[in-house]
Amino acid sequence: MAFNLVFVVPLIAMAGQALANFSAAHGLVLVPASAWDRMHPAAVIFAAVFIGDFTAYWRHRLEHTRLLWPAHAVHHSDTQMTWTAIERFHPINRCSTFFIDASVLILMGLPPFAVVANYLVRHYYGSFIHADLPWTYGPLGRIFVSPAMHRWHHSADERAFDKNFATVFSVFDRAFGTHYVPGPHEGRLGVHDPIAPTLTSQLTYALTPRAYRRTPPEINREGSETEASRAVPAE
Ligand SMILES: [Zn+2]
Ligand SMILES: [Zn+2]
Repeated sequence: MAFNLVFVVPLIAMAGQALANFSAAHGLVLVPASAWDRMHPAAVIFAAVFIGDFTAYWRHRLEHTRLLWPAHAVHHSDTQMTWTAIERFHPINRCSTFFIDASVLILMGLPPFAVVANYLVRHYYGSFIHADLPWTYGPLGRIFVSPAMHRWHHSADERAFDKNFATVFSVFDRAFGTHYVPGPHEGRLGVHDPIAPTLTSQLTYALTPRAYRRTPPEINREGSETEASRAVPAE
């Protein structure tokens, strides 16, 4: 978190302004600002969070492919679920998240207050679903992502690989066939990529060519077959 705050957030803030300027200069907006002005601010905020979560769902699926997995694996390397897991992201992952999510929000022409609200809601709700809670929400889990649902996303159980990509609305996973919540998760968490829990290992893993030679399912299946092959020990 500290590394990202000091070295990545200032770059992202500048890049955000540059993206907005570029969009304004070239007229790259699909929905005119006047369309949002006619709506109630609460409806605009809801639309921003819904569009933001839809975008994040597909961006997250992209992060589980060969090209972006080595950076995203750092987030999954956490072997315990706590609200601080939301801060464990590789700078490459932070940047890909920012460029994809911000580009869509800017294209949609959403007003600044709705973009900020989307960021705050999705960030703090994202922190909440990483909390060490067994809650599935019961029937409400058909609409919203619960802490149990996201815990399954971090599971070392092969049945849960590439499932539960959304942050706020579980409807996206249900609509696209990636929803998997058989109940509260009680098994092992983490990845089988060789990432040690040190700053150096977490920063350099995504910079090594060997990290890109295997697809995530190959890494995961290989690791799930034998306890001895586990690179990240549970604490
Ligand atoms: Zn993931
Ligand atoms: Zn997570």
